[in-house]
This record gives sequence, structure tokens and C-alpha cells, in this order.
Amino acid sequence: MNPGCKIAAATLAALLLLHSSALAAPGTPLVKNRYYYEKRGEMIWEVPTNEHVIALTFDDGPDPAETQQILNVLQRYDAKCTFFAIGKKLAAYPEVAKQIVSEGHELANHTYNHVYFKRPISGSALQHELELTENEIVKISGKHSRLFRPPGGMYDETLVTVANNMGLKPVLWSWHQDTKDWNRPGVYNIANKVLRNAHSGDIVLFHDYVHGSSQTKQALEIILPELKKRGFRFVTVSELIGLSSMAFELRGAVK
Ligand SMILES: [Zn+2]
Repeated sequence: MNPGCKIAAATLAALLLLHSSALAAPGTPLVKNRYYYEKRGEMIWEVPTNEHVIALTFDDGPDPAETQQILNVLQRYDAKCTFFAIGKKLAAYPEVAKQIVSEGHELANHTYNHVYFKRPISGSALQHELELTENEIVKISGKHSRLFRPPGGMYDETLVTVANNMGLKPVLWSWHQDTKDWNRPGVYNIANKVLRNAHSGDIVLFHDYVHGSSQTKQALEIILPELKKRGFRFVTVSELIGLSSMAFELRGAVK
């Protein structure tokens, strides 16, 4: 090694030491963000997998009119999906919810009253909302759900802990797959958002109830045949987790 290289190597070593000691500095607050919870398997945004699969998810139903229309499109393309249902709507429309389950979809928890929890989130209020919804889900499907999507995607340490302790894995969505269909951005904008960005392991966010007239069903008429043509298989979020290379603890699941 020539002297120039020796100096460069020594400088690099010193910099690395400085950097690593800065990272390990005592008292540095631990940032509990997506990467922290994802690494621990305590929360899900998307799922790394080698399979050519994608999970479509629908929030805010069931609704007798809109959910029914969406179920009809999904059936035509043999797409199995996950519905994050609102507890009080499950109580109001159990027949729609039963149809979701009987057609092979996954029913999951989206709180009873669609509460946008403010941080710091109250553990007891959250648990009450989740339990009320689980009661409805058990009445409809005969079993508890495994997944919970917090309204508005709001979460903190309490939410993650309470939900996991109840056997409900908090699930958000792939950051590149937020269709914003609730805002009715146009059928082609919804379809393009999904089709431009579709990757194996994605979790796509839709709504099976949109106030006003929904564009989601029409967008699905474009999205489903195209993704099918590209060889994607449509799976529930629990199935997707089962195909993951990461280890998740999921109620009633092998992984
Ligand atoms: Zn919602």
C-alpha cells in the first residue's frame, strides 16, 4: 500500500469509527417508524415475496350497494381480497359481510365507529373499538380476524402493542399504491396509479364505500384484466403474509 492509500485508509477507518460511535451514542432516541415496526414484524405495509401475487384491500364497508358491485367484479376475475370492515356496518349489513366471506375473501377489522385516533392513542378506547368489531366478525364468520387497519393510517406505540396483543396485525398499504379512490380522482387515475406501480407483494388501498358515487368498480374493470394478463394472482393479505420470506406471527397461521 502506498503512503497516499495508507492515509486514505486511515481516514476512512477513523470516519467509520466516528460514524458507528455516533449511531451507538447513548441517549440517542430510538425512532419508532415504519422501518422499526416492519423489521420486528409488528406492522405491515407490504410483503417481500418471490411469488407473483398482489393484495387488493377495500376499506369502509360493507355497503349493500357498493360492496355488492365490487364483489361481482372480483368474482369475474377470481380475485380474492381483504375487506377492512367497519363494525357498526357489519352489524347493520351482516348479509353483505357473509357474502364477502362465502366468496372466499378475508374479513378484517377497521374499528367499530371508524375512529381517527389522535396521538397519543388511548389503549383502552382502541381495545374497545377492536373488541366490538371482533364480536361482529365472529358472529358473521365464526372466527376472529387476524388483521386491523387503523382509520387514516394513524398509529403509535400503544396502537401497535394493543393490536398485536389482541392477535390483530396492523396493516397499512404500499406507499406507491394509495389510489385515493375515496376522493374520486377519476377512473383512469385510479387505474393508472395501480398499473404503473404494480409489484409483487404490494398491498393496494381501495374503498368499498365512497361517499357520493364511487369510481372504484369501474377502475377495477380496467385493473383486474390487465394485472391478470401480467400474470399476477390476487391474494388476501393473510395469504400474502404466508408467502413472505419474513417471519410473521399471525393468529392461526403457519408463519
Ligand atoms: Zn377507513
